[in-house]
Amino acid sequence: ASARRRKIVAGNWKMNKTVPEALALVRELRGPLSSVGDVVEVVLAPPFVALQPLHVALEGAPFQLAGQNCHWEASGAFTGEVSAPMLAELGCAYVIVGHSERRQLFGETDETVNKKARAVRDAKMTPIICVGETLVERESDRTLEVVERQVRGALAGFEAKEVAGFVLAYEPVWAIGTGRNASSAQAQEVHAAIRGLVGRLYDGETAGRVRIQYGGSVKPDNAAELLGQPDVDGALVGGASLKAGDFAAIVKAA
Ligand code: PGA
Repeated sequence: ASARRRKIVAGNWKMNKTVPEALALVRELRGPLSSVGDVVEVVLAPPFVALQPLHVALEGAPFQLAGQNCHWEASGAFTGEVSAPMLAELGCAYVIVGHSERRQLFGETDETVNKKARAVRDAKMTPIICVGETLVERESDRTLEVVERQVRGALAGFEAKEVAGFVLAYEPVWAIGTGRNASSAQAQEVHAAIRGLVGRLYDGETAGRVRIQYGGSVKPDNAAELLGQPDVDGALVGGASLKAGDFAAIVKAA
């Protein structure tokens, strides 16, 4: 964490919470998180169908909304898809792109992640670009190589001034939903490598400004340690974001 980079904690609800449940969760979050706004940026990524009701309910609350995914085209014959301009219109400030579940279960590639990031940016939102190695890749010492390929692929064609505003999320696949978080040293090593890569691809100013979240089994009891690392600028939280008490505790740890 650096004083120059405002911490950002995002809750990725995945395919959880009906609209009434989503409204109940934000009601519970409002009180405990009413005063954190200046220090930590809090982002909620509910399922698409809850975005409009939350956009209305969050009027004046210190939370930003995020889509969990989008298509790269603005409109057209893409049955079942949702575009970036549609998300912007519902008040989203961010869109998560390239989550490992989307890469593994829905065939996303570095190329589609890049196209989606471009669409998000064109719609004047900020992409939260997820990268991370599998267990097999870590155990064969390919972590940095895989993460570097994913970051290069996602950022292809972007200019420094765009990338400076982006959020990257390092999410080791083996840590997602497993209860087995990366150690703070493991996270810091990869975060520093990602920042170094951004510095080589662009410049020091851009590397110093881009924010890099850690994700993968972030819980109230490991958040402070992970978020205390110099290159960890926030967290992307799955399971623990579904409980108001846990999510509020993680935000406060930041
Ligand atoms: P988890 O998920 O916190 O449940 O491990 C993180 C994520 O997938 O973003």
